[in-house]
Amino acid sequence: MLVREKDMDFIKSIDNGEFEVWYQPQINMLNEKICGAEALVRWKEKNGNLISPSEFIPDFEKDGRIIELDHLVLCRVCEDIRSARKENRKFGPISVNLSKRNAERKDTEKKIHDIIARYGIGTSDLLFEITESASDLSDGDQTELLVRRLRELGFLISMDDYGTGSSTLKSLADISFDRLKIDRSFISCIGNRRTDIILKSTIHMAKQLRAGIVAEGVETEKQVKFLKENGCYIAQGYYYYKPLPKEEYLCTCSCCLDNENRGEEV
Ligand code: C2E
Ligand code: CA
Ligand code: CA
Repeated sequence: MLVREKDMDFIKSIDNGEFEVWYQPQINMLNEKICGAEALVRWKEKNGNLISPSEFIPDFEKDGRIIELDHLVLCRVCEDIRSARKENRKFGPISVNLSKRNAERKDTEKKIHDIIARYGIGTSDLLFEITESASDLSDGDQTELLVRRLRELGFLISMDDYGTGSSTLKSLADISFDRLKIDRSFISCIGNRRTDIILKSTIHMAKQLRAGIVAEGVETEKQVKFLKENGCYIAQGYYYYKPLPKEEYLCTCSCCLDNENRGEEV
């Protein structure tokens, strides 16, 4: 399909309200309470067909539509935080995925700043996840600059899919991330001798760097036990919750959001 046609279809899908934002809770495993959530986009076509992000995000990354989509998701998240606040309901700090392609635009920080100001949202209500595995898409210096500017604005930044990129250690050396989010591919191999060694030293290294650490894709009790024993206390995964539509997430939050820990590192 031509890029222009794709753009037209994309705009039509936005206008039709086909993009939804779901929330996957993140758990403080020390007290089993929710300490935040990740916002995950869902594309629900008019006929009700649900398209998973893995089917369209790579394409959107390639042609740049991801930038508009990320801003749309951020607006939705801000709107959801604001409406929950109005109703005095708990919501928790929300992690929003930000494609590295945003680093190519000089006005990204301004746009983000304008969006949160429009909705009256504070920087502590949000966290940005930037994936390191997409590093080939954009220049490392641009990403470093974007992370630095967003941190200057007061946002916490998480390195997403930690361990899967071709230059993980280089990115870590060059860029100050507040959190490392260990990719599911490592968590699913817990129990494998080599993976266990890598995970233990990653958790230790994160602590030395004063970065928080989050385990993604936690599915079993054995994984929970290993992570807790080795000092990683924030988890996201099907063992606890799958991504939930907003209302379901709100109901879940109202009974088990951890007020003591507003997503700060444990
Ligand atoms: P991600 O950022 O690594 O997000 C985590 C993915 O793992 C989500 O898939 C989530 O549903 C899935 N997941 C979480 N826990 C488990 C588990 O225990 N087991 C298994 N098997 N899967 C689990 P999802 O929602 O399909 O998203 C896929 C990817 O699409 C995300 O990976 C992210 O890279 C991208 N994505 C989603 N929403 C956005 C967005 O708004 N902006 C951008 N730029 N990317 C997004
Ligand atoms: Ca993510
Ligand atoms: Ca991942």
